[in-house]
Amino acid sequence: MVRVVAAEGGILGYGHFGSESIAVKLLTRSDSFDEINFLRTRLSNAVSLRRSLGLFDSERTTGFRLVNAEGDGLPGLVVDLYGTTAVMQCQSLGMARVKDAVAAALRELAPREIRAMYSRRKESSKGQDFATDPEPSRYLFGAREDDTFFENGMRFFADWEEGQKTGFFLDQRENRRLLSDLAHGKTVLNCFSYTGGFSVAALIGGASDVISVDSSAAALAGVGRQLELNGLSGKHASIQADCLQYLQKLERPYEVIVLDPPAFIKHRGAIKGGIKGYETINHLALKQLPPGGLLFTFSCSQLLSRADFTDLVERAAARAGRDAQILFELRQAPCHPVNLFHPEGEYLKGLVVAVR
Ligand code: SAH
Repeated sequence: MVRVVAAEGGILGYGHFGSESIAVKLLTRSDSFDEINFLRTRLSNAVSLRRSLGLFDSERTTGFRLVNAEGDGLPGLVVDLYGTTAVMQCQSLGMARVKDAVAAALRELAPREIRAMYSRRKESSKGQDFATDPEPSRYLFGAREDDTFFENGMRFFADWEEGQKTGFFLDQRENRRLLSDLAHGKTVLNCFSYTGGFSVAALIGGASDVISVDSSAAALAGVGRQLELNGLSGKHASIQADCLQYLQKLERPYEVIVLDPPAFIKHRGAIKGGIKGYETINHLALKQLPPGGLLFTFSCSQLLSRADFTDLVERAAARAGRDAQILFELRQAPCHPVNLFHPEGEYLKGLVVAVR
């Protein structure tokens, strides 16, 4: 914990020190600070927000983000709820130091709903674990229980011990629902599928057949279980491949293509190359969609603005020689709120584009 002081000596606020690209994650701009009270208040606000969104009372959706870092005034802290297990990731040493206090406060705020809390160590981007969380992953209370949860009536599992991030990409909840609404009778190619969240949504929506493509064997190994949990069999195939290479030589056309790649832009130096990468995959997809085809395209790079994302999709369509219409502008689900004073928190940008 550090106090941030102006050159003239006045206190500007308090925050957690970091040895990576952000020197201090500011927690408060007030001139006095009681860390435990602060955590309690912010966590209580985070829980109330989800209650008011109807997330705690829903049987159709039991997996959602409970704490979204800066978006909930808690920089460095992410907590995702999967059924009755909460999975915490600390992105600063300061947060890691108070994780037991966070767990205790959340347990008190939602004792019925949270029966276990797993702390998943986030590897630092530089590979130095002490920069974020020095401790190995462990249950802070409770133990491993049912690993399944519901999202808009679909049943999914999350592998919070071995999977990517906290185990599942909850930010795409509403966008998966939209795909479900639009996929009826269509052939769907789900690129960068992870465990197949979009694939299940498309099949539930009545897609005629779906292909999931991902480079990770571990991710694809989960697709079968996601399908099984939803009573889906047939009409689906998984392919382990690099999506760029796969899109370059598609053997058959698809009527809907989903592009949800990992962040291509992780630091300022990567902006130019990242934009090129996004443009290339969008160009390949747009080129191959039949007239009337739909592209669901996303970027989760915080450093790419929505305007620049729309521009690159426009360039990709122009290069492909296709007319295209924007049908929907998409973003992260509301359990991933964006603090108005931290616009960088709007990291997930998406478009649904119809191609002629
Ligand atoms: N759409 C998914 C989340 C995608 S996360 C969902 O809704 O759950 C990004 C995925 O891209 C990861 O599963 C990762 O393994 C995969 N990936 C990363 N680089 C890739 C590449 N070059 N080719 C194919 N898949 C890739």
